[in-house]
Amino acid sequence: MESKRKPYQLVSREWKQTDTIIQLKNTQIGQGSVSVIAGPCAVENEDQIFTICEFLSKQGVKVVRGGAYKPRTSPYSFQGLKKDGLILLRQAADKYNLSVITEVMDTNLIDEVAQYADILQVGTRNMQNYQLLRGLSKINKPVMLKRGMSSTMEEWLLAAEYILSGGNDQVILCERGIRTFENATRNTLDLGIVPLLKSISHLPVIVDPSQATGHRDLVLPMSLASVMAGADGIMVEVHNHPEEALSDGAQSLYFDQFKTLAAKLKLASDVLGKPLDLENEKILF
Ligand code: PEP
Ligand code: MN
Repeated sequence: MESKRKPYQLVSREWKQTDTIIQLKNTQIGQGSVSVIAGPCAVENEDQIFTICEFLSKQGVKVVRGGAYKPRTSPYSFQGLKKDGLILLRQAADKYNLSVITEVMDTNLIDEVAQYADILQVGTRNMQNYQLLRGLSKINKPVMLKRGMSSTMEEWLLAAEYILSGGNDQVILCERGIRTFENATRNTLDLGIVPLLKSISHLPVIVDPSQATGHRDLVLPMSLASVMAGADGIMVEVHNHPEEALSDGAQSLYFDQFKTLAAKLKLASDVLGKPLDLENEKILF
């Protein structure tokens, strides 16, 4: 097959053959193991985030997620605790030796978010915010770039190219579902893109089955499918009281569901011969 010249370069395997590994203080992402990022959709209060971080650390999770600046479809919905949320998330993560990923929505807030986060998340709604991408290309912290809900793979890789070409090569791609005619699930999880991305790009690929499905009961099967499709890991929403969550409660796992997920992920990782990056697997199995 004749190969067409690609519009992207730095993100491609032709440019760099070896997998990009994201080094965090307590773990790595993209080095051949299965990473598990977990936490609430949003940081809501001190008790909530400390309780969740304690639970996750006991499960061996290394990276906690939690939004402080939340991109909400409605301006009347909870918008996040903003800087107070960042402070709480950092305090809870430090207490339990977790790395932190949280979203940055605004170029003016890059420095503030980078002060508290170990990985900065670009949400689906900002994937083509080129000012934001340019700003993130100048920082010395990893960026997780979520796929735009209506973006093609090429547009997504070109968005990543903005970050790399500006000087930041620590980029993680996150598939979180796309808009299709189907509305039985919140989005349509495009799992076929995972092995394709892994062959085209050297960047780590994480799947977020929570935003993709919108239903907590679908998170376990789609997490397993993501790992089997070759993802470097998953990012899932977990809450101590999902029915009271201020955002995305319906797709947030109960603690018990997370424990089951961890056990099944171990089996899936074993089939693939990959280590599962949950430190406490001995306790669970
Ligand atoms: C989230 O992770 O909570 C989130 C808002 O993600 P997305 O940008 O994929 O909708
Ligand atoms: Mn969410």
